[in-house]
Amino acid sequence: RSATEIAQEFLDRIAVLEPKLHSFIAITPEVAIAQAKQIDAAIAAGETLPPLAGVPIGIKDNMCVRGIPTTCGSKILKNFVPPYESTVTQKLAQAGSVMVGKTNLDEFAMGSSTENSAFQLTANPWDLACVPGGSSGGSAASVASGECVIATGSDTGGSIRQPASFCGVVGLKPTYGLVSRFGLVAFASSLDQIGPFANSVEDAATLLGVMAGYDAKDSTSLNVPIPDYAALLTPDLPQSLKGKKIGVIAETFGTGLDPEVETAVLNAIAHMESMGAEIHQISCPRFRYGLPTYYIIAPSEASANLARYDGVKYGMRDADAENLLSMYANTREAGFGAEVKRRIMIGTYVLSAGYYDAYYLKAQKVRTLIKQDFEQAFASVDVLVCPTAPTTAFEAGSKKEDPLSMYLSDLMTIPVNLAGLPGLSIPCGFDAKGLPIGLQMISNVLREDVLLQVAYGYE
Ligand code: GLN
Repeated sequence: RSATEIAQEFLDRIAVLEPKLHSFIAITPEVAIAQAKQIDAAIAAGETLPPLAGVPIGIKDNMCVRGIPTTCGSKILKNFVPPYESTVTQKLAQAGSVMVGKTNLDEFAMGSSTENSAFQLTANPWDLACVPGGSSGGSAASVASGECVIATGSDTGGSIRQPASFCGVVGLKPTYGLVSRFGLVAFASSLDQIGPFANSVEDAATLLGVMAGYDAKDSTSLNVPIPDYAALLTPDLPQSLKGKKIGVIAETFGTGLDPEVETAVLNAIAHMESMGAEIHQISCPRFRYGLPTYYIIAPSEASANLARYDGVKYGMRDADAENLLSMYANTREAGFGAEVKRRIMIGTYVLSAGYYDAYYLKAQKVRTLIKQDFEQAFASVDVLVCPTAPTTAFEAGSKKEDPLSMYLSDLMTIPVNLAGLPGLSIPCGFDAKGLPIGLQMISNVLREDVLLQVAYGYE
């Protein structure tokens, strides 16, 4: 079949599934068909095809694609059409991928269930009454349901790994700075990182290889050589685990962890041992301070990043305001949802004079201690493992009114962002209700090669 026929098949499948799933904020058939036609033309001309030629992809709607609305799941950006292209979507287009749509997310990527989207609820393809996780819930659901083959996500505190876990797909948050953030709508700039969703480790490796690389337009971009990640995965499965030192993070087990998740994760670890991995018990005592530390640093950065939405330059503007100040205030009052306002208030509070030292500065110090726990662990192991999330997907509506219980979903993913490390979630079983369970694997800075090899060996 031609790339155009394949693109059309996926668009048809999207048309059938979307009334139930709502994974996409916008479906982009014109873009998809135009990109697919280019691939068909390249095939007809006998050209060498790029690595993602003709592969249908979903793009999280906080990444700018020139000329296509980017809402970030917010009313305040409802009519925003970016005049520029994010580096990552540019690289993906050059690699031949075919964009079928922009995927749903929690407003400004703040959330763990995609219920904070201003536009729609996305359903978990395994159980439509459950959430797909978040904030990249639309991307995870679209890959899990076969609406597209691969998708992009962004992960500030778990937004790729937790939805990957809830939807039973592979999700990878790379080392901070490996993938350019240029054109990604900023949430918490020292934590945000873009990464891939896929149905296999190999696909995730290919996608990461396309996305990664130095970009002068992102001041935190790392100028390092990018290995051919996919080529590192040998088909000789058990070999890639032989002799690998795997550390089990002791503090992630016990109270608060769903017993079915615990069993599946322990079985996965036993399986890795049977394939030749060396299993070590590792303690990361400061891991448990990750959540409170994150909820000081992330809202602080968010409150600064979101100051730009004042009705002047981007998206919506209150039309009836009497003066400039009320225009700002009314636009922000009408444009932002409850969770975003909560974060702005927390961030503004902890950054205010007199509180800065008590909260923000202290949080930065704890962040360093958490990093040290990881550094110590990686002195003796190659990869750390733990559950990705304490539970499987929960029912829509069950946590929306209780922000603290929602925040707990990211207990195990957040420390990885605070330390800037790569982390991956891979399916490792199902609970009694048939909902997928995710195993999190974490490696040292820029060791995506080892991380992917271990994940591939396990898969
Ligand atoms: N759920 C976390 C939050 O609400 C993480 C979100 C993310 O990684 N973007 O902040």
